[in-house]
This record gives sequence, C-alpha cells and structure tokens, in this order.
Amino acid sequence: AAKERGRNMYNFFSQEMNVKAHERMELETSLRAALERDEFFVEFQPIVTARTCKVVAAEALVRWNHPEQGRIMPDSFIPLAEETNLIVTLGDWVLRTVCRKMKQWADSGVPPLRVSVNVSGMQFRQANFVDDVAKIIGETGVDPRLLELELTETSLMEHADATVKSLFRLKELEVGIALDDFGSGYSSLTYLKNFPIDRVKIDRSFIKDVCETPDDKAIVEAIIALAMSLNLYIIAEGVETPEQVAFLQARNCDEIQGFHFYRPLSEEKLLELLKSL
Ligand code: C2E
Ligand code: MG
Ligand code: MG
Ligand code: MG
Repeated sequence: AAKERGRNMYNFFSQEMNVKAHERMELETSLRAALERDEFFVEFQPIVTARTCKVVAAEALVRWNHPEQGRIMPDSFIPLAEETNLIVTLGDWVLRTVCRKMKQWADSGVPPLRVSVNVSGMQFRQANFVDDVAKIIGETGVDPRLLELELTETSLMEHADATVKSLFRLKELEVGIALDDFGSGYSSLTYLKNFPIDRVKIDRSFIKDVCETPDDKAIVEAIIALAMSLNLYIIAEGVETPEQVAFLQARNCDEIQGFHFYRPLSEEKLLELLKSL
C-alpha cells in the first residue's frame, strides 16, 4: 500500500509539475508575442524633494497593454518573466525605450529630469549587462548622469564579487545606482558600505503605518539616520498621506515618491506636468 501511495504521489507531483511547466511555457510564449507586438509601455511616477515638494525625478514602470485583458500591472508578469529569460529582453526593451525618450525630451528642451529604471536580478547577473547598458547609452545619446538603475538587495546578494565589479563599472558610466525596496529583503549593512550606491529607497511596507506603528517608525528613523551618516540619499516610497510627508520632512528624508503627490503618469501627462512647473 505504501508503494501504491508512493506511486500516486509521484503521479500527483509530476502532473502538478507538468501543469506548472506548461503554464510557464504558455506565459513565455505570450510574453514573447507581446514584446513582438509592442504591447508593453512605460509610465513615469514623479518623485519630489521632501523639503520643497518639487519634482526632481521619476521612476519608469512597465505595463502590459493586453489585447483582451487590458492593462496588466508588473506584479502580475514580472515575477513570471523572471522565471524565463524574457526578463532580460523585456528589461533591455524598457531601458532602451526610457533612454530614447529621455534623449527626445532633452532635444525638445524639457528641463533635465533624473529617471530611474528597475533592473531585475537575473538581468543584472547577465555577464554582458554592463556592456549592454553602455551600448544603450551610446546608441540613444542619453545623458547617463540623469539615468539611475534600481536594484534590490536580493539581486545584489548573490555573487557578491561579480556584483561589486559590475556596480563599479556602472559608476564609471556615470549612471546612478539606487537600492530599491530597502529593508524588505536580506538586508546586509555591508552592502551599504562596500557597494557604490547613491540612493536608498525605503520599502513601502515600512511607510504604510509609519505614523501609527512605533516599530515602523523606529525602522524608518534608523534607515534615514544610517543613510545620512553613510552619505547616501534617501527616498521614501509609497507615501500616501500628509502625516507621512510631515514625518519624513521632520526627519530630513531627501525625496518622496507616492500617491500623495503623484501616481504613475503616461509620458504625455508627465511632459504636461513638467511644462506646468
Ligand atoms: P517598485 O520598483 O518598488 O515600484 C514602486 C511601485 O509602488 C509601483 O508599482 C508604484 O506604482 C507603487 N507605488 C508608488 N507609490 C505608491 C503609493 O503611494 N501607494 C501604493 N499602494 N503604491 C505605490 P507598480 O508599477 O505596480 O510596480 C510594481 C513592481 O514591479 C515594481 O516595484 C518593480 O519591482 C516591478 N517593476 C515595474 N516596472 C519594472 C521594470 O521595468 N523592470 C523590472 N524588472 N521590474 C519592474
Ligand atoms: Mg523600483
Ligand atoms: Mg520599490
Ligand atoms: Mg518592488
């Protein structure tokens, strides 16, 4: 009977795996088709200085305009794209698209705006990642000093030696480096010390209840204090209320990103906003 049960278990798991593998293959096919059909687009969420609430930057965020399902948000397809190699192609597309737009803006007299682009761990770990970034910068003619790459702690964690090398090579290209979702992953303070990071983005989960929950308050205060003493700029993400803004201003947080100020905007709306400032 044990043998029988074992066999059934085996069937159960292998069926389960088949379904998973099948779903992944289907997703990979549809993501690839979406890339070919140009169904992805980028929105830009403005980031303001805490002190004056002036727009100083924007984060590029990818969306999928699905022919049947309409707009699909990145949390529904990025994790899956990360399981296939397509995240590399998609990430490359996002970076190239953003750089091309930034160059167009500069050429048409739009005041310089720092724009950050999310880079997934798998993309960052590609042996030719830094070369690809250099190539995109060269081909689009974007000012690299306006470009920032957002990496998460988790994606920097593995292969620490290669990571440090890549980060220093990126710094040679003059692009900025931000540590995204700080505090949510396997934070190691060693990274802050050894890696050439310009900016730390405090994860949204700490900001959410920062005014009500003493633990979150303590964590946010500690992150800001640490970043300040290490000469890193600090951005708070997911700021939704005036109380959170006041809290962050009182603690000398540098920049704020969140629905309280702006939601992600289309390129058109972003340019309108920049012109109106
Ligand atoms: P993220 O990089 O941490 O980006 C910030 C996310 O927080 C965005 O969600 C943004 O819309 C959302 N957000 C900003 N302010 C607020 C707020 O006040 N309240 C709330 N509730 N949310 C806020 P989005 O656009 O859905 O993106 C989710 C995640 O998908 C991103 O998190 C990032 O990890 C990933 N992602 C987006 N675009 C790309 C991309 O081009 N490449 C890669 N690899 N990942 C991307
Ligand atoms: Mg980000
Ligand atoms: Mg983030
Ligand atoms: Mg995130």
